[in-house]
Amino acid sequence: MGELHVFFFPLMAQGHMIPTLDMAKLFASRGVKATIITTPLNQPVFTKTIDKYTQLGFQMEIRLLEFPAVEVGLPEDCHSVDKVPSPESLPSFFKACAMLQEPLEQILQELRPDCLVADLFFPWATKAAAKFDIPRLIFHGSSYLALCAANSLRTHKPFNDVSSDSELFTIPNLPHELKLTRLQISPEEMRKRVWEPQDKCYGEIYNSFYELERDFEEHYRNVMGIRTWSIGPLSLHNRDVEDKAQRGKKSTIDELECLKWLDSKNPHSVVYICFGSVANFAPSQLHEMAMGIEASGMDFVWVIRNKREEDNGSEKWMPEGFEERTKGKGLVIRGWAPQVLILDHEAVGAFVTHCGWNSTLEAVCAGVPMVTWPLLNDQFYNEKLATEILRIGIRVGSNEWKGSDSDGVKREAIAEAIKKVMIGEESEEMRSRAKAMKDKAKKAIEEGGSSYLDLGSLLDELRAFHAKH
Ligand code: UDP
Repeated sequence: MGELHVFFFPLMAQGHMIPTLDMAKLFASRGVKATIITTPLNQPVFTKTIDKYTQLGFQMEIRLLEFPAVEVGLPEDCHSVDKVPSPESLPSFFKACAMLQEPLEQILQELRPDCLVADLFFPWATKAAAKFDIPRLIFHGSSYLALCAANSLRTHKPFNDVSSDSELFTIPNLPHELKLTRLQISPEEMRKRVWEPQDKCYGEIYNSFYELERDFEEHYRNVMGIRTWSIGPLSLHNRDVEDKAQRGKKSTIDELECLKWLDSKNPHSVVYICFGSVANFAPSQLHEMAMGIEASGMDFVWVIRNKREEDNGSEKWMPEGFEERTKGKGLVIRGWAPQVLILDHEAVGAFVTHCGWNSTLEAVCAGVPMVTWPLLNDQFYNEKLATEILRIGIRVGSNEWKGSDSDGVKREAIAEAIKKVMIGEESEEMRSRAKAMKDKAKKAIEEGGSSYLDLGSLLDELRAFHAKH
């Protein structure tokens, strides 16, 4: 039986490219030749890791497709979601993505891989692969819970049964009772684009693991009838400091300096605050956040990245004297932080997160309880998993889905939630549940673990398919 060759084509967004690179590395570690497809400006996300692992004997390579940003009216350097100037330009970005179908077909024809793992956001990839009789797998950058809940909303429309936007409704037919408000779900347009059923493809890959959301995984497979493989948590395949530090973008802080700072702190005494790669807060909310962090009295690492142009880097919202007052207690990182490295440090006691799926999983892998602060997309669902199912997080109380300029959470709520997760009886209980889940995550990816076996059975199937064609 010849060796397998698999293409990986992630949406150009940090939250998709980072786990896809981990996934490609994982496949390569199991004897597969892995080719990543991306655009020239996104190449730096992958090159270092690919170079490193090729030298170690893995078969990994990259193929580039020109991105037609200018043709759809976007700025020339707009090659990834975090560079899209405003939420209104997102449709143009996706239009440019769809224009990649033809060049993708050209390299599929040229290289004839055995499988195409393409992002959920590239529905046209199924047709492209079918032309060459290549199985297409969808990579879901999200949780089973999120997909089950979104599917239920689409089918049953329970949000029509309440009379106000802030009234709770139950999401029907799920293995656990979950309630949301209309304010917490995405505008109709978004729901359609993301969650409409796609052309039937070979199956779906999840960055999740059986023990984490077993009931939702079973619901998804058995009730919704979709073939899936759970192969996560993918971030756990980064074992050394170099791998943990080098994810997505280059850190704007020296990693060793960051570790030294954390080394000087007691175990579980630091709260880490970071909202992923695209979240955008109103200046008034950033001000309130600073006040809340300070009022919590905890030591902290706070990652600030706001792309609002009117801010112009001046940070007028920053409370006067904040950094002087918190000197020694707080480390502010402007730009990109080595997140996994920080979360895995024993000084970190809690993670204030927007509940992006990667961040949520990284918290689980580190055994760190969360203060959940969802803003949009699948984040309100992931919050439910963290706070109500796993019970390793506390809500800060963000109640509204907002595409940009998110605001409305008060400093008292922020300070209160941080204190609750960091100290006291409830904190201890959450920490011990988080630790138990961390151990399960590790076991899942080890030889014989659930994710290890699931990937094995996928590879067996692909090999059998390869042998027949
Ligand atoms: N990340 C990072 N440093 C930062 C911000 C984010 O390394 O300063 C990484 C984080 O570890 C995660 C990814 O970027 O792997 C963000 O993905 P997530 O799904 O959490 O959020 P998104 O950016 O998609 O909203």
